[in-house]
Amino acid sequence: MQLHFDNAFRRALPGDPETANYTRPVSAALWSEVQPTPVPSPRLLALSPAVASAIGITAEDTASARFAEVFAGNALLDGMQPIASNYGGHQFGHWAGQLGDGRAISLGEVIGADGRRHELQLKGAGPTPYSRRADGRAVLRSSLREFICSEAMHALGVPTTRALSLIATGDAVVRDILYAGDPKPEPGAIVCRVAPSFLRFGHFELPASRGEYALLRQLWDFMCVRDFPEYEGAADRDAQVFRAICERTGLLLAHWMRVGFVHGVMNTDNLSVLGLTLDYGPYGWLEDFDPAWTPNITDAEGRRYAFGRQPQIAHWNLSCLAGALSSLFADQEPLRDGLRAYAETFNRAHAEFNAGKLGLLAPRDADTALAQRLYALMHAAQLDFTLTFRALMGLDAAAPSVDPLRAASYAAAAFEAQRPALAAWLTDYAQRLDSDAAPAARRERMAAVNPLYVPRNWLAQQAIDAAEQGDLAPLQRLQTVLERPYDEQPDAEAYAQKRPDWARHRAGCSMLSCSS
Ligand code: AMP
Ligand code: MG
Repeated sequence: MQLHFDNAFRRALPGDPETANYTRPVSAALWSEVQPTPVPSPRLLALSPAVASAIGITAEDTASARFAEVFAGNALLDGMQPIASNYGGHQFGHWAGQLGDGRAISLGEVIGADGRRHELQLKGAGPTPYSRRADGRAVLRSSLREFICSEAMHALGVPTTRALSLIATGDAVVRDILYAGDPKPEPGAIVCRVAPSFLRFGHFELPASRGEYALLRQLWDFMCVRDFPEYEGAADRDAQVFRAICERTGLLLAHWMRVGFVHGVMNTDNLSVLGLTLDYGPYGWLEDFDPAWTPNITDAEGRRYAFGRQPQIAHWNLSCLAGALSSLFADQEPLRDGLRAYAETFNRAHAEFNAGKLGLLAPRDADTALAQRLYALMHAAQLDFTLTFRALMGLDAAAPSVDPLRAASYAAAAFEAQRPALAAWLTDYAQRLDSDAAPAARRERMAAVNPLYVPRNWLAQQAIDAAEQGDLAPLQRLQTVLERPYDEQPDAEAYAQKRPDWARHRAGCSMLSCSS
């Protein structure tokens, strides 16, 4: 395995002079050198061949014992220079100070055959100077969830970090799943995740909070050149780059709302400057439509990061970033302009996606109200978000019927109570379609934005239960189905079901915590 590394972040930016691995505050530096802690018996559980090939790793390489050793942190390839990066963040609305890569270790930045940059990061490879009181490890269930969901997001067309590999360590990791005073050993695992850049809003917030303005400027200039080269040379480069961050975030949020994804922990340290979905933890997929739903029990009371609040929270997070960057701008107007661009981009993309979800080819202003009415009905009738739109795809506009929606509801009585209102909505919708597209064009448009298969928590949980027993078949099958989320696939009905009753209140399915 010979990869071409260009470790720009480490080369260009100041690092921590201390090289011993113990927990500490690190100031005036953006990274610390750290070695992954070896594990007893690495075993490859899942692989993304597409990511491997983009990086330049062959099928022969991935099948070798050395591959599992390297991506479990037991061996380094030529050119790898492991570091943990230093960042802060606002957690649940409050400034939390220094956080940093407590269980992520960047191995280096690979330049792929296509010239693109791919930073390789191991999650769960042991403690770093930023681990605080935690162990730097990750359990199989959370690692499998990150692996499955990040690859599924890519297939869904949602900007995301990718995952190269999922490797069991052979070590046990102790976790208290629901913070209920019941710690238990669980199998450990490591994901190698991949992105052009893992820079977060919090990377900028930390030096700003400490008054390290020269360091902040250095990091900003570095990011502009490495991650936003298309703006180099522009007189207002900084303004344009900030605007681009805001626009990418706006597009990301519109995608999350399109597919029904709830991140669960939208702290500023979990938001990527590239507008990628980052840090898969207690995330979830909307099933019965409810804007107030969150899978994260840690957030059950405040519901700060509930599905319907995500667009506002992203704006709040961007305001934190703007505040951190204010010393870089003599005139603050470009920062305000960027925040406005966030709202415009989100609103435009969200309206476009909603029109697509309904199959409307030439959107009109009145369509927003039509979509809002549907969402209110979906909430009242407890309709499954994903299955409702797939059912609408099959609608006969000449004779609209409520019946096909029935199977998508989680509550027969609530559905029946909404039947007249649903029928009235369908009549208006059918009329609206009548003046718009031919059925075939409409279905095609709907099939492009309404997935049939999404990594519902209980599907991931079934793969986890089997993998913990040594059976990898369900994980492989789930991975394969999620590669083509918009195409109806033979024998995949089980993956396009609404949540079964057993999963309603089970840990890992409807209840998740940050304990991972
Ligand atoms: P998260 O809530 O996963 O975004 O994590 C917030 C912070 O806690 C980050 O700085 C993580 O690196 C750190 N962290 C989370 N879990 C662990 C762990 N098991 N060991 C060390 N650091 C952790
Ligand atoms: Mg995080």
